[in-house]
Amino acid sequence: MYRIENYIDIVGKGVIASIYKKASKLYGKHIVHVNSTYQGGGVAEMLNTLVPLMNDVGLDVGWRILHGNPDFFTITKEFHNGLQGQSIKLTSAKIEQYLNTNRIFSKFTHFNHDCIIIHDPQPMPLINYFKKRQPWVWRCHIDLSHPNESLWNFLSSFAIKYNKIIISNINYKKSDSPIPQKIIFPAIDPLSLKNHPLTQKEIDTCIKKFNIPTDKPIITQISRFDKWKDPQGVVEVFKRVKEKIDCRLILCGSMAADDPEGILIYEQVKRKAAEHIKKNDIILLTIENNMLVNILQTISKVIIQKSTREGFGLTVTEAMWKGTPVIASNIGGIPLQIIDGENGFLCEPKDYDGFAEKIFEILKNPFLAKQITKKAKESTRKNFLITRLLSDYLDLFIDTFK
Ligand code: UDP
Repeated sequence: MYRIENYIDIVGKGVIASIYKKASKLYGKHIVHVNSTYQGGGVAEMLNTLVPLMNDVGLDVGWRILHGNPDFFTITKEFHNGLQGQSIKLTSAKIEQYLNTNRIFSKFTHFNHDCIIIHDPQPMPLINYFKKRQPWVWRCHIDLSHPNESLWNFLSSFAIKYNKIIISNINYKKSDSPIPQKIIFPAIDPLSLKNHPLTQKEIDTCIKKFNIPTDKPIITQISRFDKWKDPQGVVEVFKRVKEKIDCRLILCGSMAADDPEGILIYEQVKRKAAEHIKKNDIILLTIENNMLVNILQTISKVIIQKSTREGFGLTVTEAMWKGTPVIASNIGGIPLQIIDGENGFLCEPKDYDGFAEKIFEILKNPFLAKQITKKAKESTRKNFLITRLLSDYLDLFIDTFK
C-alpha cells in the first residue's frame, strides 16, 4: 500500500519513472500540509494518499490538522459559503474567533519545514503567527469565481503573504492578485478502498451489510449534505424520473467534522422526501464508509451530481473511473471532467427536466451508457489520477525551491 510502483499497471512505467526523476531533485525536503479535518470531503480524501506517496518517493512530508471548536467551524463554513458567493456579515466577533483559533493553534505547533501548504480558508491566518522562514503555499479547493467581495478583501490580507496560490480552475484566478497563481486539478487514488475494482463477492457482502435493496435501478448522489450540492434539487429530479420509470434514489452523505451545516440540510431533505422514504424509494445514508461509496458508485445505473457550486467534484471523477454514467451540473470543476455527450452529460443546475430526461435516457439505453463510460474511464486515467497530482506537486516544489 502507498508504494508508487503499485500504480505501474494503471498508468504505465513512463509516468512512474518521470515521478521518480522529479522526486530525485527533492530528496529529504521537509514539507507539511495543514487542513482542518482528517475525514469528510475532498481535501482529506486526497491528503490521505498524497502524503504517504510523497514520503514513498523520498520527501519528508507530514499532515497536521487545525483544531477548532464548533463556533469556529460555523464561522469557517460561513466563509466557505461566502467564497462561493453567498452574502455574509463579517462581524468583529467572527473575525476575532477565526483569528484566535489560529493564534492558539500556533502555540501548539512549530514549523521548521522547507515549505508549508495551507489548505482552504480555515488555517489561512496561521501565516500571521509564525516567523516566515520558508515558502508558504495557499491551496484553495473552493469555487472562487464569484466570492463575496468584503470577505475576499479580508482574506486577501492573508493571501498576499503567501508565495503561491493554487486553485483548481482557470475561472477561479484573481486578476487583481499580485501573488502567482497556479492551477492544479485534484485527483483520485485508483487503489484506495473507495476506488479499487470490486469482486462480485465484495459487492454482495457489502450490499447485505448495508441493507441496500437492488430490486430496482439505483440513481445515486454521493455528497455531504450541503446546500451547494443541492440534495433537495436531486429529490425534485428523482420525482420527475420516477413518473416515467420505477427506480430508487440513494443520497449518501457522511458528516464532515468541519461542516456543521450537514445535519440541518439532512433534516430538510428528510422532510422533503418523507413520502418516498416511507416507501423505501429514497434512501438517505449518513454512514462514513469508503467501501459503501465504492459499492454505490459501482452498482448504480446513474450517478448524479447536481451541485450549484463545485470547486472540482471528486465524486464525479470517482464514478467516471468506475465506469458508471454520470450526469452532472455544468458548473465549477465539473466541465473540466465531463465533455457533454462524450464521456458523461452536463445539465444546467436549474434544469430539473433536463436532468430527469438524461437519467431516463440512460436507464432506457444501456448501449449509450456503455459508450460513454468507456471514454469516461480513459479520460480519468489520463487526467485525474493521484499519480498526476503527485507529479504536479513535485513540479510545484521544484519551482518553489529553484
Ligand atoms: N464522500 C464520502 N462519503 C460520503 C460523501 C462523500 O466518502 O458519504 C467523499 C467522496 O467520495 C469524495 C469526497 O468525499 O471523495 C468529496 O469530494 P468532492 O470534491 O466531491 O466534494 P467536497 O466534499 O470536497 O466539496
